[in-house]
Amino acid sequence: MTPDTRTPVESHQRQSRAPVSDINAVIGGLLRDLAFAQATQPKMFGYKRAAAAVLALDTHLTELVTPEGVLPRIAGIGPGSARVISETLDTGGSPTVERAVDESGRRGDIERRRALRAHFLSRAEVLRVLRDRSMAGPTLSDYAGDLQMHSEWSDGNATVEDIARACHARGYAYAAVTDHSHGLKIAGGMSMQEAAEQRHAIDQVNARTDSFRLLQGIEANIDADGQLDVSSDEAHAFEVVLAAPHSRLRRAQDQTERLMTAVQNPAVRILAHPRGRITGSRAGVVADWDRVFATAAGSGVAIEIDGDPARQDLDYVLAASALAAGCLFALDSDAHATEQLSYAETAIAHARLASIPADRIVNYWPLDRLVDWLSDPRKEARSGVQYQERA
Ligand SMILES: [Zn+2]
Repeated sequence: MTPDTRTPVESHQRQSRAPVSDINAVIGGLLRDLAFAQATQPKMFGYKRAAAAVLALDTHLTELVTPEGVLPRIAGIGPGSARVISETLDTGGSPTVERAVDESGRRGDIERRRALRAHFLSRAEVLRVLRDRSMAGPTLSDYAGDLQMHSEWSDGNATVEDIARACHARGYAYAAVTDHSHGLKIAGGMSMQEAAEQRHAIDQVNARTDSFRLLQGIEANIDADGQLDVSSDEAHAFEVVLAAPHSRLRRAQDQTERLMTAVQNPAVRILAHPRGRITGSRAGVVADWDRVFATAAGSGVAIEIDGDPARQDLDYVLAASALAAGCLFALDSDAHATEQLSYAETAIAHARLASIPADRIVNYWPLDRLVDWLSDPRKEARSGVQYQERA
């Protein structure tokens, strides 16, 4: 194909780039493998802690070793884990881990878990991608507000006052508190009475400042048929409705219709953690994503990149497909505590890797454009038709 026949879609795809080598993700994964190969619970937890410590480092391990090859002391990393790190830095793999996996008799289960870690970024890689000026795409400094987080009104632990203060301190112009709706009892979903009381608390927060606005959202649960656990009347009580799957996340059967029904619901503005995957644990919903994305694009529904490190949902690979389908995006932390607001940075890194223009991301819009879209998403909708012609 000659360059002049290339569609804008393909040029986006050409720009999307995988991380060169996320060594901390590789080593964190190997330590998880080693954890699952252990015969005793304390040893398993020890290696899980070591894996979490590596994945949370701000710096890649390649940059932490001295020129003499010495690894500095890292909290949570014992001698066994340090050996896995040294082996992997030297050779790209760990004979120690492979031997332990073989001896455990659990290679099948561990290989299955490995496959469920694809396209997850370590914290060090997130920070590297945010700093990489050779990449186009959204920046942390222009991110205007986070549209998924949980407060003490459902399964989070912060008050709405704490959340507003923390978001304002991060330089946001706005944020949405999106507690779970009443259908999700396990997550302390809010009744409509509680939602009215929460609105009162949010109004009080907003009355104190002009430079920051807290929106009241709701994370509605998508049931097996794609219906929400809030009625359309109830949905009107909120300024932004997210819809998210929380069940049937380990099934091999196709669930395209379930998600299509959800994104066609006129109350929905954001499809949150669209797959419901969890790193090393579950793959989440199986669907014909091109159809889901085309429908979302036509409805003006934003597809979320959820920045919770265990979710990273969508990741940059599937996000590039959503971009090609003409989708809008929401990049959110899904924080359940104010320290977790930094998870939005994971979402921004995936968006940069997928070369999503900031103009297609609702969190980069000024408040008035955001509010306009919330009141009428079709204003920002793009027909998927021009993109489908390629197929
Ligand atoms: Zn959720």
